[in-house]
This record gives sequence, C-alpha cells and structure tokens, in this order.
Amino acid sequence: MSIELQPLPPKGGDYNLENYEETAKHFDWSEVEKAFTFHKTGKVNLAYEAIDRFAEDENKKDQIALYYSDASRDESYTFAEMKKMSDKSANVLKEAGIEKGDRVFIFMPRSPELYFAALGAIKIGAIIGPLFEAFMEGAVKDRLENSEAKAIVTTPALLERVPVSDLPALEKVFIQGDDVKEDGVYLDFQSRLEQASETHDITWVDREDGLILHYTSGSTGMPKGVLHVHGAMLQHYQTGKWALDLKEGDVYWCTADPGWVTGTSYGIFAPWLNGVTNVVRGGRFSPEDWYATLEKYKVSVWYSAPTAFRMLASAGDEVVKNYDLSNLRHILSVGEPLNPEVVRWGEQVYGLRIHDSWWMTETGAIMITNFPTMTVKPGSMGKPFPGITAAILDDQGNELPPNRMGNLALREGWPSMMRSIWNNEEKYKGYFEFPGWYVSGDSAYKDEDGYYWFQGRVDDVIMTSGERVGPFEVESKLVEHPAVGEAGVIGKPDPVRGEIIKAFVSLREGYEVSDELKEDIRVFVKNGLAAHAAPREIDFRDKLPKTRSGKIMRRVLKAWELDLPTGDLSTMDDD
Ligand code: ATP
Ligand code: MG
Repeated sequence: MSIELQPLPPKGGDYNLENYEETAKHFDWSEVEKAFTFHKTGKVNLAYEAIDRFAEDENKKDQIALYYSDASRDESYTFAEMKKMSDKSANVLKEAGIEKGDRVFIFMPRSPELYFAALGAIKIGAIIGPLFEAFMEGAVKDRLENSEAKAIVTTPALLERVPVSDLPALEKVFIQGDDVKEDGVYLDFQSRLEQASETHDITWVDREDGLILHYTSGSTGMPKGVLHVHGAMLQHYQTGKWALDLKEGDVYWCTADPGWVTGTSYGIFAPWLNGVTNVVRGGRFSPEDWYATLEKYKVSVWYSAPTAFRMLASAGDEVVKNYDLSNLRHILSVGEPLNPEVVRWGEQVYGLRIHDSWWMTETGAIMITNFPTMTVKPGSMGKPFPGITAAILDDQGNELPPNRMGNLALREGWPSMMRSIWNNEEKYKGYFEFPGWYVSGDSAYKDEDGYYWFQGRVDDVIMTSGERVGPFEVESKLVEHPAVGEAGVIGKPDPVRGEIIKAFVSLREGYEVSDELKEDIRVFVKNGLAAHAAPREIDFRDKLPKTRSGKIMRRVLKAWELDLPTGDLSTMDDD
C-alpha cells in the first residue's frame, strides 16, 4: 500500500553534489578528512575546525558566523569574535577546574552565551550535555544524575530546577545573569566571561574522545543518553555540504533548539564546519516571526520540521505573501515523517520543494535524504547518504526484497554513529542484535528504485484484519483533508480485527467539530487509501501531545485510549 503521487524531477541548479549515484559508488569517508586541519596536524578538536580555523583565515575572519535575535536582543558575531568569546568561555570553565572528559550541561534558553558556553566546553575537551530550557526539575535531575555531570551552565530563572544538593557529582554551577553571588559552587558566568583572558590554548583530543551527550526525544519511552565523539565531524561536515547544500555565501537557519540533536549537529556543527553564516532565533514559534526571520537575514538554506511546516500551512497561505523570501533556495525537514501534502503545499507557497531527511539522535547525522539533484518522490525519505548502507530486515535479520515492510537497519560504522548509551551497556547492545547491523526501531520499506519509505515506529505498526498498516500513511492521508491540521494514528485492540485504526485529529483554523465532518474524513481516507486503512474511530482534540522537538507522541495517545500509565513525560510540550 502506498500513496500514488507523481515523482518530482530535479529542478536543476548549481548543487554541491552533482551526481548522487556515481558519487555513492566511489565514496570513501577517509577522503573527507582532507577537508580538515587535523588531517595534516593530527591535532583534533571540533571547535577548532568549526570556528578557529576560519578566525585565522584573513578571508573568513570578518564574515558573520552567528546572527542572533529574539524579542530583546539583536546581535551578530564574526568568526573572529566567536573565537574570542569561545576562548574566553573555555578559560572560565578551565579556571574553575573543569577538565577533559567532564560532563558540562548547558541548561539555558537560546542566546549567544549558550553557543559560547558550548564551544568553550568543547575547546577544553569536556563533553557537553545540552538540555532544553523547558525541562522541569525531575527531567534535569535524571539527566545530570545519569551522566554524573560535573558542571552546569544555567540562568537565574532556570536555577530553581537544578536540584544541586541532590547531585553529589555536580561541583560547579555557572549562572549567566546579573548580580550573581558567588560561593565556590555557584559562579557568575557573565562577569567571569567579561574578565577572562582572550587567549586560550585549545585542548587537542583524540577523534574517539567524547564530544556531546544527547538525551533522545523520549517519543517512545525514557530518554537515553547518547554519546558522540569528535570524529563525528566528518559526517556533520559532509552532510552539511551535500544534503544541506551549504556553500560559501549561504545564510543558513536551523530552527531546532540545541536541546535536541538537530539543534547541535545542524544548529552548531554542520554550518560552522562548512564556514557558513548561522542564524539563531530565540523565543517561540509564530508564523509571522519565522517569515520575518527568513526575510531579515536573507536566509538561503532552511532546515526545519514537519510540525512547523504543518503549523505554517494551518496559518493559511496569505501570511507568507507579506514577506520577501526570494533568497531561499533549499528547504529541508527532519524529525517526523514529512507528509506528501506538506511537500505539495511547499511547492505551491514557496516555489520550492521541502526535502526530507531521516536520522536519529543515535546516528548523529543525516543517514537518508532527498538530495537536491535527485527526483523526489513525495512521502519518501529519499536514499542513503553516500558511505551509508541501509537495508530492510525481517525479524530474524534477513534482508527483505523491495516493497516489503520491515526493520530499517544500517550497516555499522559510520563516523557520527553513537559510541555508547551512557551508563547503559545493555541498551546499547540492544541496537545490534543482528551482527554488523544497527537496527533503528523504525519500520520502512525500500522501493525498486532504492527510495526508502517510512511507515512508523516498529512498535506503532498496526495489525488490522491481518493487514499491516503504517500509521504514517493514514496520517498523511488525513492531513490531505482540508479540515485536518494534524493527525496521530494508533492501533486500538479489537476482539475481531486484532486492532482497529483510531485517529486523533486537530482541525485547521475555521473548522468546527461535527459528526458529518467525522464521517467525511473517514470516507476521504477510505476512498484515498483503502477501506481497511480508514480510521474506525476519530477523536477531535484541540492539540495533539507532542515532544518539545515537535513529534507526535503516539504512546501518549495510546495511553489515553487504553487508560494506561503515560510513562516519562519530561519531554512533552505542555504549553
Ligand atoms: P526516543 O528514542 O527517546 O523514543 P525519538 O526516537 O523521537 O525519541 P530522536 O532521536 O529525536 O528521538 O528521533 C529519531 C526518530 O524520529 C526516528 O527514529 C524516527 O522515528 C523519527 N524521524 C526522524 N526523521 C524522520 C523522517 N524524516 N521521517 C520519519 N521519521 C523520522
Ligand atoms: Mg528513538
């Protein structure tokens, strides 16, 4: 079963990756290393390759590295200034006794200081642990405790959610704010930053040394602490070049918060390793602010998420007409399945195609994507990145032929692969039950042209009357209906059919809940997809439960439906 849509041929243009098929045939990760200084010097530090090497380059040092804005700040920093501020930040951390390998958490809203703190910690060889600002005390405690964090950089407002006295390993709490009283544990990050020396001797590390510890989104359960190493930069760089198509002169905006892996791999590492100007916007989503940001900075490459595109679409097509988005040339999406309807909508309102990309916290960087020079099949995630081998395996680990739904797996050993799940060897081993393969936990199929089609989380695949139905296809059909803004689909146990399909739906602006509408939506899916795929039950909700990274939490829908405990909700967006 698949939604029939016309493939969209490449639009043509001057792209970094010209011929996907040829390149994929001959690609070798060890060649990528030649782009970096450490290839010659043997001295590795991601922060050096991302910032310092451009700050030392006469032609690049005065280029804007970071544009930052929110409701009260509007600033920009060149590569030279980013080097200065991250050197100062490295000195602040080092003088307080933070050393290589220590875990330094960063728990603050987006601000330039967040980026200085992160880069400074990387410069001294510490492992950074980003935390989303909305985390409450329990979530902060779990993560700091699990990783035995030695330091945290936070703000006065967030400090009350850091249970310092319950965390014996936590020695230093840096506070970014005014009038901070110091006492040996609590330290004034802002004034220390101002006073710190501008010269810093970077700590050279091994490419296998820890860089970042990311806790997953918590869509399926308790978040896991995923460790990535400096060597991951090879893939951050190369996917930035070929998938994001970053080049000299680009202004790039990744809308993800650095609390999630997209906000670091593609909000910090990939753009700066490629030497492009990076836009960061603080504050929450609003269609007007987002379009204003694209216009103001003349953004050329934009990386966002399906939920954001769906919300922009729900806001209507008129609002976009008030903004000049003529500098945009490439748009990408990640985090959830990208509904074909959203791709179609993007073509219509932006005149550009939204390119899907698939990867996970654990994979560290993009693994499957639609390259700009490729024919896009809307609804498909695209093809594996050169150097990546993907496959669909059955439950015994055998490769399945095309068009059969199974476990999406990846051949072990890409540069940005996680190196461990912190303090949980068992969990880590669980990903590698079939020798040589990393099993993602996602269900997908591959078509005869080698395109991958996401079906759902393995646990979310629905068995109804003997048919396997991926929730994504039903959801995608649902959002094609003019009244439907967002949809989440689950299997509900049923004595006769095994499971029935149940949909939770939020409506677009201007639509009212009614029985007629419910039936109309049901019939729409039945006629557009298949009778057995039409939801037998539809519940309307004002909004669907989502993670703060914007993913619909089907396990919460299921728990609501079946009256089960909802499990860890620390990552749920409850605004
Ligand atoms: P947890 O592992 O804690 O349950 P999570 O899996 O949502 O949470 P992330 O690592 O942030 O945590 O998300 C990775 C998952 O997001 C993938 O396994 C996949 O299910 C989904 N995903 C990411 N990109 C895409 C995409 N382009 N299409 C479909 N699904 C995607
Ligand atoms: Mg996951």
